[in-house]
Amino acid sequence: MSPSEPEHRAPEGAYCAQHPQRAAAYTCPRCGNYNCELCWHAGSERCDACLRRDPTGAAPPMPWETSEGGALRRYFATLATALHPNTSAPAFARDDLRNAFRFFLLSALPCAALSGIIPNTKTLLFGGSLQLIVQGHPTATQIALDVLIAMLMQTGAFLLDMLAMGLPYTTLVRAYAPERRAVAVRVLFYRSWLVPAATLLFFTLMWCLPTPPGNAPATEASPVVSFLLAIQFVMNLVLLISMRSGARLAAGVTPALSYVIVIVAFIVRFMVQLFVETAARGLLPKS
Ligand SMILES: [Zn+2]
Ligand SMILES: [Zn+2]
Repeated sequence: MSPSEPEHRAPEGAYCAQHPQRAAAYTCPRCGNYNCELCWHAGSERCDACLRRDPTGAAPPMPWETSEGGALRRYFATLATALHPNTSAPAFARDDLRNAFRFFLLSALPCAALSGIIPNTKTLLFGGSLQLIVQGHPTATQIALDVLIAMLMQTGAFLLDMLAMGLPYTTLVRAYAPERRAVAVRVLFYRSWLVPAATLLFFTLMWCLPTPPGNAPATEASPVVSFLLAIQFVMNLVLLISMRSGARLAAGVTPALSYVIVIVAFIVRFMVQLFVETAARGLLPKS
């Protein structure tokens, strides 16, 4: 990796301040120390020691937490910070849980509720090419109730999913970085919308896409479905990267531990998902 910013390059023959045996590649603009590749955070443009000392100084606050501009602009700017999970991560070191929780209520929860409509409603069938077919002869009230239940079911499933992943994640981050108690919860409040948004995008695009010729139902093997599943996978991956960089850059846990923490959290999440799916299959009447 070559130094991205020429002015941060260490002079020829300099050695790392932390690792005297390693050649230095960068000079920290904060403390002036020389750093090897391991000790330098390119996204934050400072050394590991400076980032640990003052993580919040290494990234602008979440746009949602500032008073600049209208609420809508700050909302979408905060959603967009998910696109650069590493450079925005130090902002999670702040203590503001109240604003983070508000953001969660306005991002993840509505996405989760909406993402349940297409797969869970029984009175409405969402076919391809934006088809909307009413099943049977339900009244408007019955349809509204059905849609509401579909939304609530999905919201409940989402909260369970986040709890399964969030509990091990917050517990572990707090265990290794007890002085930064808010980090893990803030990461989840600001980034968990990625999961229901991915589901919502998947079902909405499936609904919008033209019905394949012969009216055959789309199968998991079709290239379009594979592509949509890949998008869903990438959005979940962005959440994983955000959780990793939050633990590393905002809470200051070691690089190896930050990977272990998110891997444990995702394993617990998928085990709970598997358990819930198996239990649901056992409870539902066979079709
Ligand atoms: Zn420094
Ligand atoms: Zn070093």
